[in-house]
Amino acid sequence: MDAQHIHQLITQYPIVADLISLKETIWFNPNFTSLAEGLPYVGLTQKDIDDASDRLTRFAPYLMHAFPETKPSKGIIESELVSIANMQQRLEQHYGQSIPGQLWLKKDSHLPISGSIKARGGIYEVLYHAEKLAIQAGLLTYEDDYTKLASPTFKTFFSQYSIAVGSTGNLGLSIGIMSAQLGFDVTVHMSADARQWKKDKLRAHNVTVIEYAEDYGVAVEEGRKLAQNNPNCFFIDDENSQTLFLGYSVAGQRLKKQLNEKNILVDQEHPLFVYLPCGVGGGPGGVAFGLKMAFGDHVHCIFAEPTHSPCMLLGVATGLHDEISVQALGIDNITAADGLAVGRASGFVGRAMQRLLDGFYTLSDESMYLLLGLLNDSEQLKLEPSALAGMLGPILIHQQQNYATLHQLSQKQFKNANHIIWGTGGGMVPEEEMEKYLAKAHTLNDKG
Ligand SMILES: *Cc1c(COP(=O)(O)O)cnc(C)c1O
Repeated sequence: MDAQHIHQLITQYPIVADLISLKETIWFNPNFTSLAEGLPYVGLTQKDIDDASDRLTRFAPYLMHAFPETKPSKGIIESELVSIANMQQRLEQHYGQSIPGQLWLKKDSHLPISGSIKARGGIYEVLYHAEKLAIQAGLLTYEDDYTKLASPTFKTFFSQYSIAVGSTGNLGLSIGIMSAQLGFDVTVHMSADARQWKKDKLRAHNVTVIEYAEDYGVAVEEGRKLAQNNPNCFFIDDENSQTLFLGYSVAGQRLKKQLNEKNILVDQEHPLFVYLPCGVGGGPGGVAFGLKMAFGDHVHCIFAEPTHSPCMLLGVATGLHDEISVQALGIDNITAADGLAVGRASGFVGRAMQRLLDGFYTLSDESMYLLLGLLNDSEQLKLEPSALAGMLGPILIHQQQNYATLHQLSQKQFKNANHIIWGTGGGMVPEEEMEKYLAKAHTLNDKG
């Protein structure tokens, strides 16, 4: 994009100048609508979510067998919701801003099998594909006990097929581990951001890892091209997949059940705020869709991105979606939040969800590290940098008067509110890596 085009874009959308300047920026969505108005644009329904949920239930006996760590949850891959009241206090002290209501952490960081939010969508899409192939071949019916998928017959059957995916790390980990376990020949195309331990782990699972010196967009593009030459290869398309999206969306009804069990109300007088770290958009988009379907207009969904990778904010605010990349504006897409290092947003998610998302903000790597340290000190919880992106949200919506005005929220409603930080990854980070994250965090905390 040349200077004149950038100038035009800034004139039309002043927020673009803030993104280019790399300062932490918040943007409340002026095109926000009710669920009833926004839902038709998503193009998916409750029935699609139920269908995904039923599929995961059919696979539960198999998952319990193949991954014994899923036994306590009977083969259902779900995370805990925990109160983080100490962290709430630390945030209030550090930022000098009170947070009325209660703060919670959704620990997708500790999801079984792959330790990140990608254990929802990524694993779901592999299971979807495996089921389809096995049913077409006459080897499986919906009524069967899916434990049989672990038998040598099925492993041999799946070994004729290959699966490929492009990833910054965690999606590759989820898809690689799941596909290899079923017997697929699987290749993960890893961007330069991907951590070495994620690649090592995949290779230990007999996954082919191809490394790129470029970012996620290039890894996906190359992976897609190679997969096209092989008719038996299925390319999992993180930029456009509705299947991935639906795998994530099941989280909505599951969270509703968890809140019911804790006697936590979500209604007009008790709004729920959910803060979701965003990369390409499939994970947070799918979860937000599920949340909207579960809680209607009483849930507020806010996306968080690194200042160096604000692709979704850029795409939604300008209406250009996947037709613009952050690099086109000279933003480098280099961030310690490897899970969020994406320069061009999903075209599908932004277009589908743009009316149902309340706001977007960016934060610096320093902020993510700082929050990582505060969370470890106050709650002894260890997450990876990406997973802290949502943690600044409750501070921001209270600092900014216009959020309350835009959504006509009263002090009383804020007092009754619950805030859920979606903690998207970190449970499998090796100890020595985590030590480095914490050391970095402490240098910042000592300063601040
Ligand atoms: C992938 C990822 C996200 C964001 O998901 P997208 O589908 O890329 O938007 C957030 N946090 C972590 C830790 C991730 O790995």
